[in-house]
Amino acid sequence: MKIVADRDVCIGAGLCVGTSDTVFDQDDDGIVVVLVEDPEGADADLAREAVSLCPSSALRIVD
Ligand code: SF4
Repeated sequence: MKIVADRDVCIGAGLCVGTSDTVFDQDDDGIVVVLVEDPEGADADLAREAVSLCPSSALRIVD
């Protein structure tokens, strides 16, 4: 599993960080930063949920 974020598409809504603040963070402009590209276990489940919740489709998972 690899999480990829398109920072040009991110609108800084923060749903990813709200879902998992161990996998995602936001920079000073609110744009997503992926902290853990290959999360495991419960973090992986939350990361998948965050990807599905992102309103701008900025996140995707590459298996
Ligand atoms: S949920 Fe999507 S739009 Fe919102 S901060 Fe995360 S990557 Fe950006």
